[in-house]
Amino acid sequence: MKKITVIGAGTMGNGIAHVFATNGFPVVLFDINNYAIESGVKNIKKNIDRQVNKGLLSAEEASLSLDRISPSNNLKNAVESADIIIEAATENEALKIQIFEEISELCLDNAILATNTSSISIGKIAACTKKPENVIGMHFMNPVPVMKLIEIIRGYKTSTETTQTIIKISKELGKTPVECNDYPGFVANRILMPMINEAIECLQNNVAGVKEIDSIMKLGMGHPMGPLQLADFIGLDVCLSILSVMHNGYGQPKYSPNPLLISLVTSGDLGVKSGKGFYDYSNGVKNPVVSFKN
Ligand code: NAD
Repeated sequence: MKKITVIGAGTMGNGIAHVFATNGFPVVLFDINNYAIESGVKNIKKNIDRQVNKGLLSAEEASLSLDRISPSNNLKNAVESADIIIEAATENEALKIQIFEEISELCLDNAILATNTSSISIGKIAACTKKPENVIGMHFMNPVPVMKLIEIIRGYKTSTETTQTIIKISKELGKTPVECNDYPGFVANRILMPMINEAIECLQNNVAGVKEIDSIMKLGMGHPMGPLQLADFIGLDVCLSILSVMHNGYGQPKYSPNPLLISLVTSGDLGVKSGKGFYDYSNGVKNPVVSFKN
């Protein structure tokens, strides 16, 4: 059984650790922030309990899964014996390059270094490592325990062996891997983010309020969640970073992040994770922040 290390215990990192653990893999969950580790582990417990209550996991399997997760705040200990390292830290190119430079020095010679980046060039990340052929994009979807897709992105130098191992392991997690090439935003976010940005523009232009925009897209297009609620769920900071990477990468105005998105992020309203974004989540209720005025 391969040993897995997940770097970053936030929204995605704890979900990734969760699915590896419930599928029998030993997982180390590393973060630089002790609070993030604590709340990541708490979140995994809460989500595993939910699976038990729904009859998707036995109580015994739940307890074994939790035992497979080892939290860590020591990078060297976390990566030195891992077979596969999956980076799910903040969507920031300079930060990811620094992490990959460091882990490339500390990890096993043949370890696979995967990144869960939503948009950043796999080739650029790979270029700062000792073995770019072992670097690959493994883009899980949110919420990880529920969503079936893993977007698999080969960098220019990613080897076929690395790709095949990651495809095989994705299937062992019960997921469906789909391959694409290394362009900013890949496929999922290149299509999703312009829709979210346009929904924000509709709100800014008072075409409709938060609730109305989301209701129109849910009822009219059959989407399970409206684009503004989805943006809150993804994290408005993550949406802004992805749009910025695509705007810089393609140089086209259609990817330019809406100023309202920038204002919300700079004022700390990041969506579900901060308690407020397009909706206010305080008191356990979801209330739209901007109502429709006609
Ligand atoms: P998040 O803000 O919830 O969590 C990021 C975590 O990274 C934080 O806990 C932070 O402490 C940690 N971190 C920061 N610097 C670190 C370092 N040097 N070493 C270790 N950990 C560090 O972000 P997220 O939404 O989980 O996103 C993580 C990655 O997953 C990003 O690349 C993002 O683009 C991608 N992603 C996000 C979603 C989504 O819906 N949120 C979906 C798919 C992919």
